[in-house]
Amino acid sequence: MRTFAIVLAGGRGSRMNSETPKQYMLLGEKPVIYYSLFAFEQNSRIDDVILVCAEDDIEYCKETIVERYHFSKVRKVVAGGNERYLSVYNALQCIEDADMVYIHDGARPNVTDEIIDRLYNETQKSGACVAAVPAKDTIKIASADAIVESTPDRNSLWQIQTPQVFYFKEIKEAYAKAIREKDTTLTDDAMVMECYGERPVKLVMGDYHNLKITTPEDMEIMELFLKKSIDIKKV
Ligand code: C5P
Repeated sequence: MRTFAIVLAGGRGSRMNSETPKQYMLLGEKPVIYYSLFAFEQNSRIDDVILVCAEDDIEYCKETIVERYHFSKVRKVVAGGNERYLSVYNALQCIEDADMVYIHDGARPNVTDEIIDRLYNETQKSGACVAAVPAKDTIKIASADAIVESTPDRNSLWQIQTPQVFYFKEIKEAYAKAIREKDTTLTDDAMVMECYGERPVKLVMGDYHNLKITTPEDMEIMELFLKKSIDIKKV
């Protein structure tokens, strides 16, 4: 079973209000993207890693991250697109052959061995799965002028994380269809499978610590998490 991980670092992170894109900001003296690459590097299920970044950052990523930290599984550093789904599509085109592919936001540094293994086991059973946690807050659907329209039953709501894991051929085909249809609404990979693939997507318990760094307060929370796991991550 040849398994690839696509690690995404091609975003601009405009909600972070920082000159430096969030994936390169320092967290415990290492760039945020280091932690995801480290998690996949040391997990025995993963054979190869594709790192996606902005075209202008390819050299920086190769020298300052991949070579410096000896990430030997990183086979290619490739340019992303203007939207997340275009970055994933580009990375899928760079993989000649694989059985399974993990797709992971590099802005989620707290992905663990346990999550990677849990998803691996579930993909072998059901063929497509994503990390998720039950929603803790009540979620409202609202109109454009912020008037509440409805309240979905919280028991059926999940917050979706990454990694998202699929059989390579199936997700590649689903992405190809989405691109042909010029669908610009795709916010995660599960949605591509739901709308353009054949396989139901299973939710697998992720971790509330596996949050995505989006705004400055997420960085503060992540620094606290990191202090707790500092030995594990060998910082
Ligand atoms: O912007 P957002 O936080 O939703 O991005 C999720 C992940 O996708 C981040 O790791 C980001 O670097 C990546 N991304 C990308 N290419 C884009 C936009 C986002 O690789 N065009």
